[in-house]
Amino acid sequence: MTELTRTTCPYCGVGCGVLAAPDGTIQGDPDHPANFGRLCSKGSALGETIDLEGRLLTPMVDNAPASWDTALGQVAEKFSAAIDTYGSDSVAFYVSGQLLTEDYYVANKLMKGYIGSANIDTNSRLCMASSVAGHKRAFGSDTVPQTYEDLEEADLIVLVGSNLAWCHPVLFQRIIEAKKTRPNLRIINIDPRRTATSEFSDMHLNIAPDGDIALFNGLLAHIADQGAQNNVYINAYINGYEDAVATARLSNPADTDLSPAELEAFYTAWTGTEKVVTLYSQGVNQSSCGSDKVNAILNCHLATGRIGKPGCGPLSATGQPNAMGGREVGGLANMLANHLDLDNAAHRDAVQTFWNSPTISDHQGLKAVDLFDACARGEIKALWVMSTNPAVSLPDANRVAEAIANVPFVAVSDIMARTDTGDLADVLLPATGWGEKDGTVTNSERRISRQRAFLPTPGQCRPDWDIVADVARRMGFSGFDYTSPAEIFAEYIALGDAAQRFHRDLDLSVFADVDYANLLPTQWPRNGARFFAEGGFYHADGKAKMLPISAPKLSQNPQFSLNTGRNRDQWHTMTRTGKAPRLGAHLAEPYLEIHPSDAAQIDVVEGDLVAVENTCGDGILRALITPRATPGQVFAPMHWTRQKAPSGMINSLIRPEVDPVSGQPASKTGAVELRKF
Ligand code: SF4
Repeated sequence: MTELTRTTCPYCGVGCGVLAAPDGTIQGDPDHPANFGRLCSKGSALGETIDLEGRLLTPMVDNAPASWDTALGQVAEKFSAAIDTYGSDSVAFYVSGQLLTEDYYVANKLMKGYIGSANIDTNSRLCMASSVAGHKRAFGSDTVPQTYEDLEEADLIVLVGSNLAWCHPVLFQRIIEAKKTRPNLRIINIDPRRTATSEFSDMHLNIAPDGDIALFNGLLAHIADQGAQNNVYINAYINGYEDAVATARLSNPADTDLSPAELEAFYTAWTGTEKVVTLYSQGVNQSSCGSDKVNAILNCHLATGRIGKPGCGPLSATGQPNAMGGREVGGLANMLANHLDLDNAAHRDAVQTFWNSPTISDHQGLKAVDLFDACARGEIKALWVMSTNPAVSLPDANRVAEAIANVPFVAVSDIMARTDTGDLADVLLPATGWGEKDGTVTNSERRISRQRAFLPTPGQCRPDWDIVADVARRMGFSGFDYTSPAEIFAEYIALGDAAQRFHRDLDLSVFADVDYANLLPTQWPRNGARFFAEGGFYHADGKAKMLPISAPKLSQNPQFSLNTGRNRDQWHTMTRTGKAPRLGAHLAEPYLEIHPSDAAQIDVVEGDLVAVENTCGDGILRALITPRATPGQVFAPMHWTRQKAPSGMINSLIRPEVDPVSGQPASKTGAVELRKF
């Protein structure tokens, strides 16, 4: 009988449990509380993606195979030399929500506590930084108040900026199952594009791009007008209610592009339902006003006390398998480990004391887009990219590739021999991949699960934490003598103990005596926990803040507005999913969803090629003409790379515009011109 290993899917933030075997057997783990045995198309095809074709199996220096000693010696030497000559802020790490928590922890410790810079940012900046900023502004901490169970207990689920059916499919399956048993459960989908999620929803609100603030400000004003606010909760636990409502009243509902009847139906449904979950994702986060969108949503839940209760509260769906774990160990340029603040001297002292480190950065580092701007300006002398492909995935991707090429020394850790970013590296470091490495990940409901190895280590590959720790030792730093991820996890939990005197939400005491080898999927602070039903916020006075949020001035009529996102069956740049033929069968090539009236305007019929252009770049995409698209708006998937299909690499057309609070790029609203190719 095939021996199955209990592990966790490496794709989206749902964090499904998987039973896997070296022969490619993949089953959903019936005992995992995220999926109870379910898997989506991507997860169930994992067994087809574990071959070694295309893998990086040996270190490479200047495009030639090299020993680990030579490769890591060069990384340590180049980073040390840059720091000695130009200072600690002349070097940077760009890491990934694909890394395991233990990898993230060690990289963060090296950069912030030993090198003494906070120039470590992550592709999670592209995923959920606006949620982090919104949480911190409202709650005083980056706390996710709800759990997945709330989706099954709610009477109304509002899905904002989320094609959950494609991007978090197992969560969506849980909702659909709940609706079968409780037909009165209503689903409202708010999205400028009609998607598979809209098809299953009771109401689809075809909102204007970035019209969310006007919508939720209108809801807050409606709550106040109807006397639907929770005065007891507000008086006990909230600051800023009056200001938030007064500012909300200034928003113009017409900015939503929704009819008065649609607005009334939404407001009535929301205020008339006690158990309401507002789940939001990249359509909210990936915006030049993403943080404000998050706070406009949180304001409505806070004003009504609809938070932290069964079936009742806001929930952000993270894109990546370990975006949450990265947040927890401080893998962003503006955070410290265990949800401590880089800007707080007492927090910095506590972490430095715990690490017994020679220094600690006393200022925020460069966020993703700024980091590559600094590369372009020649300010970064040594860059280490781990487990991600920014030359494809960042906005203005062609310019980012040039910026990386401008860095005097570039190291890239990856599982693949050829990536667009790896091709720009001086040193390539072969990392172990999913199924080959051990560690933990945290999903969107704060549940920490184990990824476990069930495959032999290929070639000379090593886990990321081991590679980083080796470089740290070569740079002369003590404190990196780890021999296993279990040791790193134990240190992280111990730091959590030290952090508790600051009254942080990230209470890891449930893991204090954990048997790492047999760790079951576990939520912090304790299984089933929710936050804030009875206040207990993390601002100094224990109260939450409702922020006055002004709706943005929406940009005026570009020829077309470009929305980007995921396909159902692909993951990121298709490194793994591209290996499974059945996944490629769904949508096999880069395409442009375009409304029939727009297609007619540029004289395009189904299957024609469309040239897409703006000041950043250009592309050529196959027309997919559908009434699901909104006139004036087009959609293209983000998966194709410069190597796989250069004319379909959509991030070359995304302007590097970011949310000023979170630094998250606005990947959903590019202005483009179209013509028949
Ligand atoms: Fe993996 Fe997400 Fe699919 Fe679950 S829903 S199997 S975590 S891709």
